[in-house]
Amino acid sequence: MITASGLRKAYGATTAVDGISFSLAPGKVTGFLGPNGAGKSTTMRMAMGLDRPTAGSITINGKAFAEHRAPLREVGAVLDAGAAHPGWTGHQQLRILAATHDISTARVDEVIEMTGLTSVADKRIRGYSLGMSQRLGIAAALLGDPGVLIFDEPINGLDPEGVRWVRQLVRRLAGQGRTVFISSHLMSEMAQTADHLIVLGRGRIIADQPVGDFLDAA
Ligand code: ADP
Ligand code: ADP
Repeated sequence: MITASGLRKAYGATTAVDGISFSLAPGKVTGFLGPNGAGKSTTMRMAMGLDRPTAGSITINGKAFAEHRAPLREVGAVLDAGAAHPGWTGHQQLRILAATHDISTARVDEVIEMTGLTSVADKRIRGYSLGMSQRLGIAAALLGDPGVLIFDEPINGLDPEGVRWVRQLVRRLAGQGRTVFISSHLMSEMAQTADHLIVLGRGRIIADQPVGDFLDAA
């Protein structure tokens, strides 16, 4: 479960996130929708302990990210496809991540297979297409088999087949009872992918309701 309470983040004079509160339901895909600059990434980065709230809190299963003893087993995230080491192979990148989090190499092979990376796993990441890089990010997020998943703009730049694959994957993860939080600036895509939408504009929540309620209102 992800819970934000009075969450605020200011960068100097810029208020990126302006005191938002929400709670995500397990077993559902919650879409985080809003234009560029709305504060989606900042919120997700704070959930992952990569940025510190100016005020308020965001917790995973009741604890701030940094307070979890085995964080990757609690929450997996795709925040930045560029975070991979370009000179390593996908397999190496995942093995190192697994080793530093006490996750088995058998699990590395499992996530490579699950994410369709088998044919490129032994190639250097710098040669990966955008779609393969996104898949590698997703593989890393799944490594610890976490109950909570955070995907920041995972469909950016994907072709229609890639978009469909991500949609099916997140639906399946939620079907297994996991909490899935996925951001996008594409309303039509979120309407097809999510059960519930939190709409953000200029750091504030504009709407927080089931997808069906938006469709009824239209
Ligand atoms: P989104 O993910 O919805 O596109 P962001 O969370 O990236 O939005 O950005 C929200 C606002 O915060 C923007 O005005 C952005 O310029 C600003 N911002 C984000 N990160 C930083 C940072 N590290 N330093 C200064 N301003 C930032
Ligand atoms: P440090 O700067 O010492 O590495 P952190 O930035 O991880 O420490 O955390 C410093 C403080 O901020 C801690 O008291 C922690 O509980 C709090 N904190 C970190 N992440 C969050 C979060 N997502 N929500 C609320 N508080 C947080």
